Amino acid sequence: MPEAAPSPSPAPKPKSAPQKAMEKLGLLRDIDLALHLPLRYEDETKLTPMAALREGEPAQVEGVVTDCQVEARARKQLLVRVADDSGSVLLRFLHFYPSQQRQMAVGTRLRLRGEARVGFFGREMVHPVVKVVIEDTPLATALTPVYPASAQLPQAYLRKAVASGLARADLRELLPEGVVPRELPSLKEALQFLHHPPPKVSLAQLEDHSHPAWQRLKFEELLAQQLSQRQAKLEREKLRAPVLKASQGGLVERLLAVLPFSLTAAQQRVVEEIAQDLARPQPAHRLLQGDVGSGKTVVAALSALVAIDAGWQCALMAPTEILAEQHFRKLVDWLEPMGIRVAWLTGSVKGKARQAMLDRAASGEAQLVVGTHAVIEDKVRFARLGLAVIDEQHRFGVAQRLALRAKLKGDGPGAGPPQGGASPLGGSEPKATWGPTGSLEPHLLMMSATPIPRTLAMTYFADLDVSTIDELPPGRSPIVTKLFAAGRRLDVIDKIRYEVGQGAQVYWVCPLVEESETVDLRNATETHAELAAALPGQMVGLLHGRMPPKEKAAVMSLFSGGTMSVLVATTVIEVGVDVPNASLMVIEHAERFGLAQLHQLRGRVGRGAKASVCVLIYTAPLSDTGKARLKAMVETTDGFEIARRDLEIRGPGEFMGSRQSGAELLRFADLQEDAPLLQMARRLAPELLERHPGAARAQIQRWLGTKAEFLKA
Ligand code: ADP
Ligand code: MG
Repeated sequence: MPEAAPSPSPAPKPKSAPQKAMEKLGLLRDIDLALHLPLRYEDETKLTPMAALREGEPAQVEGVVTDCQVEARARKQLLVRVADDSGSVLLRFLHFYPSQQRQMAVGTRLRLRGEARVGFFGREMVHPVVKVVIEDTPLATALTPVYPASAQLPQAYLRKAVASGLARADLRELLPEGVVPRELPSLKEALQFLHHPPPKVSLAQLEDHSHPAWQRLKFEELLAQQLSQRQAKLEREKLRAPVLKASQGGLVERLLAVLPFSLTAAQQRVVEEIAQDLARPQPAHRLLQGDVGSGKTVVAALSALVAIDAGWQCALMAPTEILAEQHFRKLVDWLEPMGIRVAWLTGSVKGKARQAMLDRAASGEAQLVVGTHAVIEDKVRFARLGLAVIDEQHRFGVAQRLALRAKLKGDGPGAGPPQGGASPLGGSEPKATWGPTGSLEPHLLMMSATPIPRTLAMTYFADLDVSTIDELPPGRSPIVTKLFAAGRRLDVIDKIRYEVGQGAQVYWVCPLVEESETVDLRNATETHAELAAALPGQMVGLLHGRMPPKEKAAVMSLFSGGTMSVLVATTVIEVGVDVPNASLMVIEHAERFGLAQLHQLRGRVGRGAKASVCVLIYTAPLSDTGKARLKAMVETTDGFEIARRDLEIRGPGEFMGSRQSGAELLRFADLQEDAPLLQMARRLAPELLERHPGAARAQIQRWLGTKAEFLKA
């Protein structure tokens, strides 16, 4: 690779293709280059005697050319014979330049690297890497790194760039004595070793990443990640929030007294955990996780009452209108008899009604505002927002969570200029003004039915407080899941006929056809017609995303009231819909759904005392991951187990919905395999931040650079 000539002019040099390719890979700083590790290695440190060459094994040999000629058969080939003391090998070039023929003239000493073939004409190498040996060209003293390269980024260029990045990078030890386990090398040693390992090293240990140099790298990475999470938490703790405490004999106790059920032990525990958060003068940042049907809504209502009782407002947001509406009804049922004023706000509330709602929120008259996530984008102003509750928060991508956090932090009145650019949630309007009241920030409670697996909770979500409802309300019977090949669709319809005859209610979910709402809709419409014809005397309804909200609500209320026996729906029913009498869930083309989504859908049944069944209709052929997902569904109904398998099938990046951002999360460490290192990093991070804040900051910067912000989401 020729070096670019030094340019005398001060004008910025145009970037070369390899430079651009490096930037694309995020190889910007010296440290980035130093942390760009080889995929594998080539051994150029020793020579194999030609007689010892074995079929298929890569090897390096050295010898003198004894013959060199172009053979003119159907296609021209360059054939070169090279010999050493032990024997000879034939080099075969199917494409070649005349210069190569001159370079390999008889008598020249060559060093060759390639894979040997033992064929009819003896030992051969096809297109080996050839180097002319002058005098005593020394052998490499370290293994040669092979980096992930491309046509735009040739190996030789990258090798050079990494080597100089490695030489220039500041790899000083940042961590104080005693932090790093004694048996691990320094970062500098580790990197030098991994880029240029000595010839005797165990390639197996390098490949399975168990070598101490690898361990050091993984430890560093995990530590940086723990530090950044912990740091985010400390920063949040500097902020102020209203102290919210329920009064004796107040709203909370009054709701508990009128509920038709008593809380499960798990619900009581999480209610208490949340109450403690709200009573602190720092904004809460808590995730409430509990499997579908575990009863999160009532916990949200009780939390809202704590805020309202203390004289503050609460906002509750859900991802879809149907779900928001359902929350709204339930909350109105529970709270209005207690004299609490509940407002309703979604994208479809328009005109005067909308203005009235906005006024009620802004004046403080509405104590609870229920709506869709549109509330976040909209120009909603609260007089005294004390608590924001986000239901099904996992439906947010990482970028959206960041935006939400920015909103909560602060583009409210008196909070300074709005942050960032356009909202990734799609709002083009100026900023929402529902941020802090004075300098106080609202508490934030997020709820999710997709539990975060433990390993992720300890890493990416380490700055989040987590409460878990790990028990279902009593009287639920387990859901049995069955697989049906698409060919047996009529059997499924027979089963439905039988079930609705017994008074059961049934969901039939049609899949989302990629990128095509129209096809999607047609499938649902056809299925609806088919089922209506097959089930005379039964009401069969249809629900899809394109219906106006009023119609959706009408269909939903017929179904939840029990008048409608079968509801054919697209995935609009995915989250949160609660009809306890429904006991059969049919999911068509189940192979097209993600595991978390299937689990959510299945959670729509099994809510009452009736034994429930989930039928998954699939169409062959199934992909491996499709098979794994369906298998998981049949084998378990435990949301945590489902989440764990989902993580296994998809990997953490996709699990967290970060794929669209393209950012890598952990590059070296593996959460499962490196659990001991993770534990160590978790233990060390708090102390390090406290006693060596400068070192901690430098560690975060070195490892995460610009990604630190992203990881806070
Ligand atoms: P999710 O956690 O999926 O949001 P919901 O809050 O919708 O679950 O609750 C599911 C159903 O269980 C609702 O009908 C709710 O009223 C009921 N429920 C909640 N808590 C209890 C309880 N402790 N005992 C009996 N039923 C309960
Ligand atoms: Mg819910």
